[in-house]
Amino acid sequence: MLQEGVPGGPELLSFATIYPRVRQHLAEVNFPLPQQRGTGTVEHLALTRNRAYLGAVPDVTYPLSRAQPGADAILRLELDLPETVYGVDAPVTVDTAVLCPTCEGALHAPGSTLQACGTCRNTGLVNGNQCLECRGFGNTIFQPCANCDGDGRIRLTRALTVDIPAGVEDGMRIRLARQGEVGPGGGTAGDLYIEIAELPHDVFSRDNNDLHCQLSVDVTDAILGCVVSLHTLDKQKLSIRIPAGSQPATRLRLRGYGVPHLRADGAGDLYVRLNVVIPANLSPEQQRMIRQFADNRGTTP
Ligand SMILES: [Zn+2]
Ligand SMILES: [Zn+2]
Repeated sequence: MLQEGVPGGPELLSFATIYPRVRQHLAEVNFPLPQQRGTGTVEHLALTRNRAYLGAVPDVTYPLSRAQPGADAILRLELDLPETVYGVDAPVTVDTAVLCPTCEGALHAPGSTLQACGTCRNTGLVNGNQCLECRGFGNTIFQPCANCDGDGRIRLTRALTVDIPAGVEDGMRIRLARQGEVGPGGGTAGDLYIEIAELPHDVFSRDNNDLHCQLSVDVTDAILGCVVSLHTLDKQKLSIRIPAGSQPATRLRLRGYGVPHLRADGAGDLYVRLNVVIPANLSPEQQRMIRQFADNRGTTP
């Protein structure tokens, strides 16, 4: 209901008074208005469009509830690769509205009560219009809770531990029900979403459920074949057989040593790319032996 400031107090405006003003305002902002056909229909149409134009105006029931649903909250959580791959109990700090511990959402000071509104007899309505005395709530807060100013909620920084399951990915969101913002009037809390931000790793890179790394192998080991040890992302020591005659950039696949499937059995693979190291600065003796090797193979110029 619109109110007009006039000397002596607010004046309630009838629909007949408001309608031409709303119509004029809508015309000024080029909102498509229905043509006049029959008064009743036009008013109904204009009212419907007006409501849509002004945005969501939910149907309200009186008396109004002071408690409104709270908003969801989102928190970005940076995790190292081993934490996203193998899971972690991650400590987080969240700053949200929480239920006021003093009044626990009752809004009034301990020992007092909400006062019934005599003007509207607790209905929130006077002659079909919102009660001005209690603003439609059907009661008034005579003595608001001093801790929350009668809002039923306060801001609080909390420490939580979030159970991050193995196999989560960058950009995934974990929902913690009812850990978001408590609503106005101590309304039900929204949800808290933890958004995973995976940090790059020095040694391993990730491609969905597969992991990739490089392994340096001396040229003689690549030629003759050998067994080398490799430390995996979870610091296990793996023995890997390098086949004789392995070419530079050969990829070896270690099945099941990748990222565990999220909330499922199995895991991706680990791909090891061989980096064959050619020695520089050979001694004269070593150069002679390599030349001899080349002569033997018949490839030297
Ligand atoms: Zn309070
Ligand atoms: Zn009232």
